[in-house]
Amino acid sequence: AQHLTHTGSWSWDVHGLDFVYRSAEVDRLFGFNPQEPVSIETIRSRIHPEDLPRLQEVQRQAREKEQERFEYDFRVLLPDGGIRRIHSVAHVVVASDGKVSELIGTHMDVTDQHAARERLENTLVALRESEQRFRDYAETASDWLWETGPDHRVTRLSEHTSTAGILATGLIDLLRWEIACDVEDEPEKWRQHRATLQAHQPFRDLVYRTVNRTGSPIYVRTSGKPFFDGNGNFLGYRGVSTDITAIIRADQAEQDLRKAQAELAHVTRVTTLGELTTSIAHEINQPLAAILTNADACIGWMAREAPDLAEARSSVEWIIEDAIRASEVIRSVRALAKKGEIEMVPLDINDVVRDVIALITRELVSHRVTLRTELTAVLPRILGDRIQLQQVIINLVMNGIEAMDAITDRPRELLIKSSKDDLGRVQLAVADCGVGIAEKDADHVLDPFFTTKSSGLGMGLSICRSIVEAHGGRLSFLQKDEPGATFQFVLPVHKEAIQ
Ligand code: ADP
Repeated sequence: AQHLTHTGSWSWDVHGLDFVYRSAEVDRLFGFNPQEPVSIETIRSRIHPEDLPRLQEVQRQAREKEQERFEYDFRVLLPDGGIRRIHSVAHVVVASDGKVSELIGTHMDVTDQHAARERLENTLVALRESEQRFRDYAETASDWLWETGPDHRVTRLSEHTSTAGILATGLIDLLRWEIACDVEDEPEKWRQHRATLQAHQPFRDLVYRTVNRTGSPIYVRTSGKPFFDGNGNFLGYRGVSTDITAIIRADQAEQDLRKAQAELAHVTRVTTLGELTTSIAHEINQPLAAILTNADACIGWMAREAPDLAEARSSVEWIIEDAIRASEVIRSVRALAKKGEIEMVPLDINDVVRDVIALITRELVSHRVTLRTELTAVLPRILGDRIQLQQVIINLVMNGIEAMDAITDRPRELLIKSSKDDLGRVQLAVADCGVGIAEKDADHVLDPFFTTKSSGLGMGLSICRSIVEAHGGRLSFLQKDEPGATFQFVLPVHKEAIQ
Protein backbone atom coordinates (compact mmCIF):
# COMPACT_ATOMS: atom_id res chain seq x y z
CA ALA A 1 0.00 0.00 0.00
CA GLN A 2 2.85 2.40 0.80
CA HIS A 3 4.44 1.70 -2.54
CA LEU A 4 1.19 2.23 -4.43
CA THR A 5 0.45 5.52 -2.69
CA HIS A 6 4.06 6.70 -2.73
CA THR A 7 3.90 7.21 1.02
CA GLY A 8 6.68 6.18 3.34
CA SER A 9 6.51 6.04 7.13
CA TRP A 10 9.30 6.73 9.53
CA SER A 11 10.25 7.54 13.06
CA TRP A 12 13.10 9.88 13.92
CA ASP A 13 15.24 10.11 17.00
CA VAL A 14 15.27 13.82 17.77
CA HIS A 15 18.37 13.48 19.96
CA GLY A 16 20.36 10.93 17.97
CA LEU A 17 19.45 12.70 14.72
CA ASP A 18 18.88 9.52 12.75
CA PHE A 19 16.00 7.34 11.76
CA VAL A 20 14.81 4.89 14.37
CA TYR A 21 12.84 3.23 11.65
CA ARG A 22 12.02 3.97 8.04
CA SER A 23 9.96 1.95 5.58
CA ALA A 24 11.36 0.84 2.26
CA GLU A 25 9.20 3.48 0.52
CA VAL A 26 11.12 6.25 2.30
CA ASP A 27 14.33 5.00 0.66
CA ARG A 28 12.58 4.87 -2.68
CA LEU A 29 11.30 8.42 -2.24
CA PHE A 30 14.90 9.55 -1.77
CA GLY A 31 15.88 7.62 -4.88
CA PHE A 32 17.64 4.68 -3.18
CA ASN A 33 17.25 0.97 -3.57
CA PRO A 34 15.71 -0.23 -0.26
CA GLN A 35 17.93 -3.34 -0.39
CA GLU A 36 21.14 -1.30 -0.14
CA PRO A 37 22.11 0.32 3.11
CA VAL A 38 22.50 4.13 3.00
CA SER A 39 23.87 6.48 5.61
CA ILE A 40 21.89 9.36 7.05
CA GLU A 41 24.46 11.78 5.50
CA THR A 42 23.80 10.36 2.05
CA ILE A 43 20.10 10.73 2.60
CA ARG A 44 20.55 14.28 3.86
CA SER A 45 22.67 15.15 0.82
CA ARG A 46 19.61 14.54 -1.36
CA ILE A 47 17.53 17.17 0.41
CA HIS A 48 17.38 20.47 -1.48
CA PRO A 49 19.81 22.78 0.38
CA GLU A 50 17.18 25.55 0.52
CA ASP A 51 14.80 23.20 2.37
CA LEU A 52 17.27 21.88 4.97
CA PRO A 53 16.84 24.74 7.44
CA ARG A 54 13.09 24.12 7.49
CA LEU A 55 13.60 20.45 8.44
CA GLN A 56 16.07 21.43 11.14
CA GLU A 57 13.59 23.94 12.50
CA VAL A 58 10.93 21.19 12.72
CA GLN A 59 13.30 19.07 14.79
CA ARG A 60 14.15 21.94 17.08
CA GLN A 61 10.53 22.77 17.68
CA ALA A 62 9.80 19.09 18.33
CA ARG A 63 12.66 18.80 20.84
CA GLU A 64 11.59 21.89 22.67
CA LYS A 65 7.95 20.80 22.56
CA GLU A 66 6.93 24.06 20.95
CA GLN A 67 4.57 22.16 18.74
CA GLU A 68 3.26 18.60 18.65
CA ARG A 69 2.11 18.23 15.13
CA PHE A 70 3.91 19.25 11.96
CA GLU A 71 3.12 19.53 8.31
CA TYR A 72 5.82 20.63 5.94
CA ASP A 73 7.14 20.26 2.41
CA PHE A 74 10.62 19.75 1.05
CA ARG A 75 12.30 18.79 -2.17
CA VAL A 76 14.46 15.74 -2.94
CA LEU A 77 17.18 16.07 -5.56
CA LEU A 78 17.16 12.82 -7.54
CA PRO A 79 20.34 11.37 -9.13
CA ASP A 80 18.90 11.94 -12.65
CA GLY A 81 18.64 15.68 -11.91
CA GLY A 82 14.88 15.57 -11.32
CA ILE A 83 13.13 17.00 -8.30
CA ARG A 84 10.66 15.10 -6.13
CA ARG A 85 8.33 17.04 -3.89
CA ILE A 86 7.54 15.55 -0.52
CA HIS A 87 4.73 16.47 1.81
CA SER A 88 5.33 15.38 5.39
CA VAL A 89 3.00 14.96 8.33
CA ALA A 90 4.56 14.16 11.70
CA HIS A 91 3.87 14.29 15.38
CA VAL A 92 5.98 13.99 18.51
CA VAL A 93 6.28 10.93 20.75
CA VAL A 94 6.72 11.73 24.42
CA ALA A 95 8.81 9.28 26.52
CA SER A 96 8.01 8.24 30.09
CA ASP A 97 10.26 11.06 31.42
CA GLY A 98 7.92 13.55 29.81
CA LYS A 99 10.45 14.58 27.18
CA VAL A 100 10.08 14.29 23.46
CA SER A 101 12.03 11.29 22.23
CA GLU A 102 10.86 10.72 18.69
CA LEU A 103 9.06 12.23 15.80
CA ILE A 104 6.97 9.82 13.78
CA GLY A 105 5.39 10.59 10.48
CA THR A 106 4.92 10.00 6.79
CA HIS A 107 6.59 11.31 3.63
CA MET A 108 4.25 11.52 0.71
CA ASP A 109 5.31 12.08 -2.91
CA VAL A 110 3.25 15.07 -4.10
CA THR A 111 5.29 15.84 -7.23
CA ASP A 112 2.34 15.19 -9.56
CA GLN A 113 -0.13 17.17 -7.46
CA HIS A 114 2.38 20.00 -7.26
CA ALA A 115 2.86 20.00 -11.02
CA ALA A 116 -0.88 19.94 -11.51
CA ARG A 117 -1.30 22.87 -9.15
CA GLU A 118 1.45 24.77 -10.93
CA ARG A 119 -0.23 24.15 -14.26
CA LEU A 120 -3.50 25.36 -12.82
CA GLU A 121 -1.85 28.47 -11.43
CA ASN A 122 -0.19 29.20 -14.77
CA THR A 123 -3.51 28.72 -16.52
CA LEU A 124 -5.15 31.08 -14.07
CA VAL A 125 -2.47 33.70 -14.68
CA ALA A 126 -2.90 33.27 -18.44
CA LEU A 127 -6.65 33.52 -18.02
CA ARG A 128 -6.35 36.68 -15.97
CA GLU A 129 -4.01 38.13 -18.58
CA SER A 130 -6.36 37.25 -21.38
CA GLU A 131 -9.29 38.74 -19.48
CA GLN A 132 -7.32 41.95 -18.99
CA ARG A 133 -6.36 41.99 -22.64
CA PHE A 134 -9.98 41.72 -23.78
CA ARG A 135 -11.05 44.22 -21.17
CA ASP A 136 -8.44 46.64 -22.56
CA TYR A 137 -9.75 46.14 -26.10
CA ALA A 138 -13.36 46.56 -25.01
CA GLU A 139 -12.63 49.58 -22.84
CA THR A 140 -10.62 51.44 -25.44
CA ALA A 141 -13.31 50.87 -28.03
CA SER A 142 -16.21 51.99 -25.89
CA ASP A 143 -17.47 54.09 -22.98
CA TRP A 144 -19.17 51.35 -21.01
CA LEU A 145 -19.71 47.59 -20.97
CA TRP A 146 -23.11 46.05 -20.30
CA GLU A 147 -24.75 42.72 -19.75
CA THR A 148 -28.42 41.77 -20.04
CA GLY A 149 -30.19 38.65 -18.79
CA PRO A 150 -32.31 36.08 -20.67
CA ASP A 151 -35.27 38.53 -20.46
CA HIS A 152 -33.06 41.28 -22.03
CA ARG A 153 -33.13 43.39 -18.88
CA VAL A 154 -29.90 45.09 -17.84
CA THR A 155 -28.03 43.09 -15.21
CA ARG A 156 -24.68 44.86 -15.25
CA LEU A 157 -23.15 48.16 -16.35
CA SER A 158 -19.54 49.19 -16.04
CA GLU A 159 -18.52 52.63 -17.15
CA HIS A 160 -14.88 53.36 -17.68
CA THR A 161 -14.30 56.58 -19.61
CA SER A 162 -15.85 59.33 -17.63
CA THR A 163 -15.33 59.63 -13.89
CA ALA A 164 -18.36 61.89 -13.63
CA GLY A 165 -20.42 59.20 -15.33
CA ILE A 166 -22.41 59.47 -18.53
CA LEU A 167 -25.17 57.03 -17.74
CA ALA A 168 -28.29 57.92 -15.85
CA THR A 169 -28.72 55.95 -12.65
CA GLY A 170 -31.32 53.24 -12.11
CA LEU A 171 -30.88 51.51 -15.46
CA ILE A 172 -30.49 48.04 -13.94
CA ASP A 173 -33.49 45.81 -14.69
CA LEU A 174 -34.67 48.02 -17.54
CA LEU A 175 -35.09 46.92 -21.15
CA ARG A 176 -33.07 48.76 -23.79
CA TRP A 177 -36.27 50.15 -25.34
CA GLU A 178 -37.27 51.47 -21.94
CA ILE A 179 -33.96 53.33 -21.74
CA ALA A 180 -34.16 54.71 -25.29
CA CYS A 181 -36.13 57.87 -26.10
CA ASP A 182 -36.63 57.27 -29.83
CA VAL A 183 -38.83 54.18 -29.78
CA GLU A 184 -41.89 56.08 -30.99
CA ASP A 185 -39.96 57.99 -33.65
CA GLU A 186 -38.31 54.91 -35.10
CA PRO A 187 -40.59 51.91 -34.54
CA GLU A 188 -39.11 49.93 -37.41
CA LYS A 189 -35.56 50.14 -36.04
CA TRP A 190 -36.73 48.83 -32.66
CA ARG A 191 -38.93 46.14 -34.17
CA GLN A 192 -35.89 44.82 -36.03
CA HIS A 193 -33.72 45.05 -32.93
CA ARG A 194 -36.18 43.05 -30.86
CA ALA A 195 -36.38 40.44 -33.60
CA THR A 196 -32.57 40.16 -33.54
CA LEU A 197 -32.60 39.65 -29.77
CA GLN A 198 -35.40 37.12 -30.03
CA ALA A 199 -33.35 35.16 -32.54
CA HIS A 200 -30.31 35.36 -30.22
CA GLN A 201 -28.30 36.95 -33.01
CA PRO A 202 -25.40 39.32 -32.42
CA PHE A 203 -25.98 42.96 -33.36
CA ARG A 204 -23.65 45.76 -34.31
CA ASP A 205 -23.76 49.57 -34.19
CA LEU A 206 -27.33 50.08 -33.11
CA VAL A 207 -27.67 53.84 -32.61
CA TYR A 208 -30.34 55.20 -30.31
CA ARG A 209 -31.16 58.33 -28.36
CA THR A 210 -31.42 58.48 -24.58
CA VAL A 211 -30.57 60.93 -21.80
CA ASN A 212 -27.40 61.15 -19.76
CA ARG A 213 -26.97 61.55 -16.03
CA THR A 214 -27.80 65.27 -16.20
CA GLY A 215 -30.87 64.68 -18.37
CA SER A 216 -29.41 65.99 -21.63
CA PRO A 217 -30.10 63.99 -24.79
CA ILE A 218 -27.24 61.77 -25.95
CA TYR A 219 -26.76 59.37 -28.84
CA VAL A 220 -25.47 55.92 -28.02
CA ARG A 221 -23.94 53.36 -30.35
CA THR A 222 -24.07 49.83 -29.04
CA SER A 223 -23.07 46.34 -30.14
CA GLY A 224 -23.73 43.04 -28.40
CA LYS A 225 -23.38 39.31 -28.59
CA PRO A 226 -25.50 36.57 -27.01
CA PHE A 227 -23.86 34.21 -24.52
CA PHE A 228 -24.84 30.70 -23.47
CA ASP A 229 -24.01 28.22 -20.74
CA GLY A 230 -22.19 24.93 -21.35
CA ASN A 231 -25.43 23.23 -22.37
CA GLY A 232 -26.25 25.89 -24.92
CA ASN A 233 -28.92 27.60 -22.80
CA PHE A 234 -29.27 31.29 -23.62
CA LEU A 235 -28.12 33.44 -20.70
CA GLY A 236 -28.33 36.93 -22.16
CA TYR A 237 -26.23 39.44 -24.06
CA ARG A 238 -22.94 41.16 -23.41
CA GLY A 239 -21.72 44.19 -25.26
CA VAL A 240 -20.18 47.64 -25.43
CA SER A 241 -21.63 51.11 -25.85
CA THR A 242 -20.23 54.46 -26.85
CA ASP A 243 -21.57 57.96 -26.49
CA ILE A 244 -21.45 59.27 -30.07
CA THR A 245 -23.32 62.53 -29.48
CA ALA A 246 -20.35 64.60 -30.65
CA ILE A 247 -20.03 62.62 -33.89
CA ILE A 248 -23.76 62.89 -34.64
CA ARG A 249 -23.72 66.64 -33.94
CA ALA A 250 -20.71 67.09 -36.24
CA ASP A 251 -22.52 65.12 -38.95
CA GLN A 252 -25.59 67.30 -38.57
CA ALA A 253 -23.45 70.44 -38.70
CA GLU A 254 -21.78 69.18 -41.86
CA GLN A 255 -25.14 68.39 -43.44
CA ASP A 256 -26.39 71.87 -42.56
CA LEU A 257 -23.22 73.33 -44.04
CA ARG A 258 -23.70 71.33 -47.25
CA LYS A 259 -27.27 72.54 -47.49
CA ALA A 260 -26.22 76.14 -46.94
CA GLN A 261 -23.51 75.76 -49.57
CA ALA A 262 -25.95 74.25 -52.05
CA GLU A 263 -28.36 77.11 -51.46
CA LEU A 264 -25.61 79.66 -51.88
CA ALA A 265 -24.55 77.92 -55.08
CA HIS A 266 -28.12 78.15 -56.31
CA VAL A 267 -28.41 81.82 -55.48
CA THR A 268 -25.16 82.66 -57.26
CA ARG A 269 -26.24 80.59 -60.23
CA VAL A 270 -29.43 82.60 -60.51
CA THR A 271 -27.37 85.79 -60.15
CA THR A 272 -25.10 84.67 -62.96
CA LEU A 273 -28.14 83.93 -65.08
CA GLY A 274 -29.30 87.47 -64.33
CA GLU A 275 -26.00 88.79 -65.63
CA LEU A 276 -26.41 86.65 -68.71
CA THR A 277 -30.01 87.73 -69.43
CA THR A 278 -29.19 89.86 -72.47
CA SER A 279 -27.01 87.17 -73.95
CA ILE A 280 -29.59 84.49 -73.32
CA ALA A 281 -32.37 86.63 -74.78
CA HIS A 282 -30.23 87.04 -77.84
CA GLU A 283 -29.56 83.28 -78.01
CA ILE A 284 -33.30 82.74 -78.12
CA ASN A 285 -34.23 85.70 -80.27
CA GLN A 286 -31.83 84.80 -83.01
CA PRO A 287 -33.39 81.42 -83.83
CA LEU A 288 -36.87 82.90 -83.36
CA ALA A 289 -36.11 85.59 -85.96
CA ALA A 290 -34.72 82.94 -88.29
CA ILE A 291 -37.87 80.87 -87.79
CA LEU A 292 -40.00 83.88 -88.80
CA THR A 293 -37.92 84.52 -91.91
CA ASN A 294 -38.01 80.88 -92.93
CA ALA A 295 -41.75 80.63 -92.27
CA ASP A 296 -42.29 83.67 -94.48
CA ALA A 297 -40.13 82.13 -97.16
CA CYS A 298 -42.01 78.88 -96.90
CA ILE A 299 -45.35 80.63 -97.46
CA GLY A 300 -43.75 82.35 -100.45
CA TRP A 301 -42.65 79.03 -101.98
CA MET A 302 -46.09 77.56 -101.39
CA ALA A 303 -47.96 80.57 -102.78
CA ARG A 304 -46.38 80.24 -106.17
CA GLU A 305 -48.53 79.20 -109.03
CA ALA A 306 -46.49 76.04 -109.15
CA PRO A 307 -45.53 75.67 -105.48
CA ASP A 308 -41.85 74.80 -105.05
CA LEU A 309 -42.20 71.99 -102.58
CA ALA A 310 -38.47 71.23 -102.40
CA GLU A 311 -37.65 74.79 -101.28
CA ALA A 312 -40.62 74.86 -98.93
CA ARG A 313 -39.42 71.63 -97.35
CA SER A 314 -35.91 72.93 -96.71
CA SER A 315 -37.36 76.12 -95.15
CA VAL A 316 -39.38 73.93 -92.79
CA GLU A 317 -36.25 71.91 -92.00
CA TRP A 318 -34.39 75.10 -91.01
CA ILE A 319 -37.39 76.11 -88.91
CA ILE A 320 -37.17 72.82 -87.06
CA GLU A 321 -33.42 73.21 -86.50
CA ASP A 322 -33.79 76.72 -85.11
CA ALA A 323 -36.68 75.71 -82.90
CA ILE A 324 -34.52 72.94 -81.44
CA ARG A 325 -31.69 75.41 -80.85
CA ALA A 326 -33.98 77.83 -79.03
CA SER A 327 -35.54 75.16 -76.90
CA GLU A 328 -32.08 73.80 -76.00
CA VAL A 329 -31.11 77.20 -74.65
CA ILE A 330 -34.33 77.43 -72.68
CA ARG A 331 -33.76 73.94 -71.30
CA SER A 332 -30.26 74.89 -70.11
CA VAL A 333 -31.46 78.09 -68.47
CA ARG A 334 -34.28 76.26 -66.78
CA ALA A 335 -31.93 73.60 -65.47
CA LEU A 336 -29.52 76.20 -64.10
CA ALA A 337 -32.30 78.14 -62.40
CA LYS A 338 -33.95 75.07 -60.96
CA LYS A 339 -33.33 74.29 -57.34
CA GLY A 340 -33.02 70.58 -57.73
CA GLU A 341 -31.40 67.82 -55.77
CA ILE A 342 -27.79 67.17 -56.60
CA GLU A 343 -27.73 64.34 -59.08
CA MET A 344 -24.46 62.50 -59.57
CA VAL A 345 -24.37 60.79 -62.95
CA PRO A 346 -21.58 59.62 -65.27
CA LEU A 347 -20.67 62.56 -67.50
CA ASP A 348 -18.38 63.46 -70.36
CA ILE A 349 -16.84 66.79 -69.34
CA ASN A 350 -16.77 67.86 -73.01
CA ASP A 351 -20.59 67.68 -73.10
CA VAL A 352 -20.73 69.94 -70.07
CA VAL A 353 -18.39 72.40 -71.81
CA ARG A 354 -20.65 72.36 -74.89
CA ASP A 355 -23.71 73.13 -72.72
CA VAL A 356 -21.87 76.10 -71.30
CA ILE A 357 -20.72 77.37 -74.69
CA ALA A 358 -24.32 77.44 -75.87
CA LEU A 359 -25.11 79.86 -73.06
CA ILE A 360 -22.10 82.16 -73.24
CA THR A 361 -21.47 82.52 -76.96
CA ARG A 362 -23.26 85.84 -77.11
CA GLU A 363 -21.50 87.09 -73.99
CA LEU A 364 -18.19 86.37 -75.69
CA VAL A 365 -19.26 88.19 -78.85
CA SER A 366 -20.47 91.25 -76.99
CA HIS A 367 -17.15 91.47 -75.12
CA ARG A 368 -15.23 90.84 -78.33
CA VAL A 369 -13.62 87.72 -76.96
CA THR A 370 -12.58 84.88 -79.23
CA LEU A 371 -13.18 81.45 -77.80
CA ARG A 372 -10.73 78.68 -78.54
CA THR A 373 -11.46 75.15 -77.41
CA GLU A 374 -9.02 72.25 -77.16
CA LEU A 375 -11.21 69.35 -76.15
CA THR A 376 -9.49 65.98 -75.98
CA ALA A 377 -11.79 63.71 -77.92
CA VAL A 378 -12.11 60.53 -75.87
CA LEU A 379 -12.06 61.24 -72.15
CA PRO A 380 -13.06 58.84 -69.39
CA ARG A 381 -16.37 59.67 -67.77
CA ILE A 382 -16.52 61.40 -64.44
CA LEU A 383 -19.26 61.14 -61.85
CA GLY A 384 -20.84 64.53 -61.31
CA ASP A 385 -23.81 66.85 -61.15
CA ARG A 386 -24.20 68.36 -64.59
CA ILE A 387 -25.66 71.65 -63.42
CA GLN A 388 -23.06 72.24 -60.72
CA LEU A 389 -20.18 71.55 -63.09
CA GLN A 390 -21.76 73.88 -65.66
CA GLN A 391 -21.87 76.50 -62.95
CA VAL A 392 -18.17 76.08 -62.24
CA ILE A 393 -17.21 76.45 -65.89
CA ILE A 394 -19.57 79.43 -66.43
CA ASN A 395 -18.04 81.13 -63.40
CA LEU A 396 -14.50 80.61 -64.65
CA VAL A 397 -15.43 81.81 -68.14
CA MET A 398 -17.26 84.91 -66.87
CA ASN A 399 -14.30 85.82 -64.65
CA GLY A 400 -12.01 85.40 -67.67
CA ILE A 401 -14.20 87.59 -69.87
CA GLU A 402 -14.31 90.25 -67.18
CA ALA A 403 -10.54 90.14 -66.67
CA MET A 404 -10.03 90.88 -70.38
CA ASP A 405 -12.39 93.88 -70.50
CA ALA A 406 -9.53 96.29 -69.88
CA ILE A 407 -7.27 94.69 -72.52
CA THR A 408 -6.96 96.69 -75.72
CA ASP A 409 -3.42 96.01 -76.91
CA ARG A 410 -3.83 92.31 -77.72
CA PRO A 411 -6.54 90.03 -78.98
CA ARG A 412 -8.91 88.91 -76.20
CA GLU A 413 -8.73 85.19 -76.33
CA LEU A 414 -10.25 82.64 -73.99
CA LEU A 415 -9.14 79.00 -74.06
CA ILE A 416 -11.13 76.06 -72.68
CA LYS A 417 -9.06 72.93 -72.65
CA SER A 418 -9.99 69.44 -71.52
CA SER A 419 -7.41 66.68 -71.08
CA LYS A 420 -6.22 63.79 -68.99
CA ASP A 421 -3.53 64.35 -66.37
CA ASP A 422 -0.60 62.06 -65.52
CA LEU A 423 -2.74 60.12 -63.07
CA GLY A 424 -5.46 59.56 -65.65
CA ARG A 425 -7.83 62.05 -64.04
CA VAL A 426 -9.95 64.41 -66.09
CA GLN A 427 -8.65 67.96 -66.21
CA LEU A 428 -10.32 71.14 -67.36
CA ALA A 429 -8.58 74.47 -67.72
CA VAL A 430 -9.96 77.93 -68.51
CA ALA A 431 -7.23 80.37 -69.56
CA ASP A 432 -7.57 84.05 -70.42
CA CYS A 433 -5.09 86.77 -71.33
CA GLY A 434 -6.59 89.41 -69.06
CA VAL A 435 -5.16 91.49 -66.25
CA GLY A 436 -3.98 88.42 -64.35
CA ILE A 437 -3.64 88.04 -60.61
CA ALA A 438 -1.04 89.77 -58.46
CA GLU A 439 1.38 87.39 -56.75
CA LYS A 440 0.26 88.48 -53.30
CA ASP A 441 -3.36 87.64 -54.13
CA ALA A 442 -2.68 84.28 -55.76
CA ASP A 443 -3.06 82.37 -52.51
CA HIS A 444 -6.37 84.02 -51.65
CA VAL A 445 -8.38 84.06 -54.89
CA LEU A 446 -10.19 80.87 -53.93
CA ASP A 447 -11.05 82.10 -50.43
CA PRO A 448 -14.59 83.21 -49.67
CA PHE A 449 -15.16 86.99 -49.80
CA PHE A 450 -11.89 87.66 -51.60
CA THR A 451 -12.64 90.19 -54.31
CA THR A 452 -10.90 93.05 -56.09
CA LYS A 453 -14.10 94.26 -57.70
CA SER A 454 -16.12 97.13 -56.29
CA SER A 455 -19.37 95.25 -56.81
CA GLY A 456 -17.90 91.81 -56.31
CA LEU A 457 -19.03 89.37 -53.64
CA GLY A 458 -15.94 87.21 -53.75
CA MET A 459 -18.02 84.04 -53.52
CA GLY A 460 -17.77 82.78 -57.11
CA LEU A 461 -14.46 80.95 -56.92
CA SER A 462 -15.02 79.74 -53.37
CA ILE A 463 -18.29 78.13 -54.48
CA CYS A 464 -16.51 76.63 -57.49
CA ARG A 465 -13.95 75.20 -55.12
CA SER A 466 -16.52 73.59 -52.82
CA ILE A 467 -18.38 72.15 -55.79
CA VAL A 468 -15.20 70.65 -57.25
CA GLU A 469 -14.13 69.30 -53.85
CA ALA A 470 -17.57 67.77 -53.27
CA HIS A 471 -16.86 65.91 -56.53
CA GLY A 472 -13.62 64.56 -55.03
CA GLY A 473 -11.53 66.93 -57.15
CA ARG A 474 -9.38 70.03 -56.80
CA LEU A 475 -9.60 73.54 -58.19
CA SER A 476 -6.40 75.52 -58.52
CA PHE A 477 -5.05 78.74 -59.93
CA LEU A 478 -2.01 78.21 -62.15
CA GLN A 479 0.59 80.93 -62.09
CA LYS A 480 2.08 81.30 -65.57
CA ASP A 481 4.63 83.59 -67.17
CA GLU A 482 2.26 84.75 -69.94
CA PRO A 483 -0.22 87.50 -69.22
CA GLY A 484 -3.62 86.45 -67.95
CA ALA A 485 -4.86 83.83 -65.57
CA THR A 486 -5.49 80.10 -65.80
CA PHE A 487 -7.85 78.22 -63.51
CA GLN A 488 -7.94 74.50 -63.65
CA PHE A 489 -9.78 71.67 -61.96
CA VAL A 490 -9.16 67.93 -61.92
CA LEU A 491 -11.86 65.35 -61.26
CA PRO A 492 -11.45 61.67 -60.45
CA VAL A 493 -12.58 59.23 -63.10
CA HIS A 494 -15.89 57.46 -62.48
CA LYS A 495 -15.01 54.05 -61.04
CA GLU A 496 -17.05 52.07 -63.55
CA ALA A 497 -15.32 53.91 -66.37
CA ILE A 498 -11.98 52.53 -65.17
CA GLN A 499 -13.07 48.91 -65.41
P1 ADP B 1 -15.93 88.08 -57.57
O1 ADP B 1 -15.93 87.86 -59.06
O2 ADP B 1 -17.28 88.38 -57.00
O3 ADP B 1 -14.88 89.04 -57.12
P2 ADP B 1 -14.71 85.48 -57.46
O4 ADP B 1 -14.60 84.53 -56.33
O5 ADP B 1 -15.27 84.96 -58.73
O6 ADP B 1 -15.56 86.68 -56.90
O7 ADP B 1 -13.28 86.08 -57.76
C1 ADP B 1 -12.48 86.56 -56.71
C2 ADP B 1 -11.39 87.46 -57.23
O8 ADP B 1 -10.43 86.68 -57.94
C3 ADP B 1 -11.82 88.50 -58.19
O9 ADP B 1 -12.28 89.66 -57.52
C4 ADP B 1 -10.56 88.76 -58.98
O10 ADP B 1 -9.71 89.65 -58.28
C5 ADP B 1 -9.88 87.45 -58.99
N1 ADP B 1 -10.07 86.70 -60.25
C6 ADP B 1 -10.90 85.68 -60.46
N2 ADP B 1 -10.78 85.23 -61.73
C7 ADP B 1 -9.85 85.98 -62.33
C8 ADP B 1 -9.27 86.03 -63.66
N3 ADP B 1 -9.64 85.16 -64.61
N4 ADP B 1 -8.32 86.98 -63.91
C9 ADP B 1 -7.95 87.83 -62.95
N5 ADP B 1 -8.45 87.84 -61.70
C10 ADP B 1 -9.39 86.95 -61.39
